[in-house]
Amino acid sequence: MYEELGIRDELIEKANIAEQEVKEEFERINKIAEQNSIKVLKAFQKYNLSEMHFGGTTGYGYGDVGRDTIESIFAEVLGTEDALVRTQLISGTHALTVALFAMLRPGDTMLSINGKPYDTLDEVIGITPNSSSLKAYGVKYEQIDLIANEFDVNSIKKRLEKQDVKLVCMQRSRGYSTRKSLSIESMKNVIDKIREVNKNVIIMVDNCYGEFVDVVEPSSIGADLIIGSLIKNLGGGIVPNGAYIAGKKDLISLCAERLTVPGQGKEVGASLGINKQILQGLFFAPQVVASSVKTAVFASKLLENLGYKVDPKFNEKRTDIVQTIQFGDKDKLIKFCQGIQKGSPVDSNSIPEPWDMPGYTDKVIMAAGAFTQGSSIELSCDAPIREPFIAFMQGRINI
Ligand SMILES: *Cc1c(COP(=O)(O)O)cnc(C)c1O
Repeated sequence: MYEELGIRDELIEKANIAEQEVKEEFERINKIAEQNSIKVLKAFQKYNLSEMHFGGTTGYGYGDVGRDTIESIFAEVLGTEDALVRTQLISGTHALTVALFAMLRPGDTMLSINGKPYDTLDEVIGITPNSSSLKAYGVKYEQIDLIANEFDVNSIKKRLEKQDVKLVCMQRSRGYSTRKSLSIESMKNVIDKIREVNKNVIIMVDNCYGEFVDVVEPSSIGADLIIGSLIKNLGGGIVPNGAYIAGKKDLISLCAERLTVPGQGKEVGASLGINKQILQGLFFAPQVVASSVKTAVFASKLLENLGYKVDPKFNEKRTDIVQTIQFGDKDKLIKFCQGIQKGSPVDSNSIPEPWDMPGYTDKVIMAAGAFTQGSSIELSCDAPIREPFIAFMQGRINI
C-alpha cells in the first residue's frame, strides 16, 4: 500500500526503525493526553453541558447560553477566572492584538522578555511601521533577548523594578525562530522572579501551539492572560475559526470591550452555530494534540537518523507541537514541504511555492493539505525562505 503512495521500501524500513525507537515517548504522550482529557471531561460535567448549549444565536447574540458555557468551560480547563472564546476573534494574531490594545494606553510600555515576538505582530506593535500600530497610538515597546535559550532574569528584574512597564509578554512556542520553545518550568521561574520586584505588571503569554502538550498551562503558574488560536491545539482540528483569550476576570472584561463595544463586552457576539464545533473540538483536543506531538517526535527521530539537524530531539521534553528540521539548502527545504503537501488528504495535487505572505518579512512556503484553511493543528509545514533553511513542521489530527 505504501508503494502505491510512491514511498520506497528503503524508507519504510527506516520509518519502522524510527517508530520502534520512539515507543517510550509515545507512552509518555498518551499519559499527558489522558490527564488533559480528564480535565476537559470534568469541566463539561461541572457546567452541566447539554444539547441546549449546541444551539447558536444570530444578530447581536444576546443571551447565548452555549457561548457563555463554552467560556466557563475554557476558563475551567485553563485554570483561569474567565475566558473569551469567540468566532469574531479571526485568528491567533487578532486575539493577541485585541489583548494588547485592551491592556495598553498611550504612554504605556510593553516589554517582550524572549526577544522579538511572532512575525505577524511586527506591524501590530509597530516594529514594522504601520499607522494603526500600538506605536502609532503612543505605546512604547521594549524587548529583552534570551541568552542561550534562557530568560535574562537579571535584566528583566532590573527593568521591572522601576514600576513603569504596564505589560510583559512572552511567547511559549518558538514561532519562526531558531530558539527553544519555553518550558512551563522556565516560564514559572521567570514569573516568580518578576513578582519578587513587581506585583502589578500584567503578564501575558502567547500560548499558540502550546495547549495540552503539557498537563499545566501558563495560566496556572502565574500568567494573567494567555492567548491561542482555535485552528491550532484547542480546536482539535474541528473548529473552523476563532481564538481564545483566558485570564483574570477584569482583564478579560477589558479584552471583551475592545473586541466588541465598550459597555457591551461579553454580552454580545452571536455564535452563529459554531458552539457545538467548539465544544467537540475541545473534547477531541487532548488526543489531537497528542497525535501532533507523536508526529513531531517520529519525524524528529526519522530525520535525525537520516542525518539532518532536528530540534527538539525525539526524547526532549516538549512544550509545543512544533518540530524543526534544518536542511541548509533551499531546494531540499522546498522539496520537503512539497512532499508534505503531496501526502495530505486535501489538495494533494497542489505544489506549494514560496510567496510574499501578508505580515511576514521573508518569503514563506506553506504546505497544508488541510480541511480548514491555515489550520496548523492539521499536518502542515511552513518555512521562511532564509538561512539556514529550516522547516517548521506541525500538526496531524489522527495517528
Ligand atoms: C500561529 C501563531 C500565532 C498567530 O496565530 P494566527 O492564528 O496564525 O494569526 C502567534 N504566535 C504563535 C507562537 C503562533 O504559533
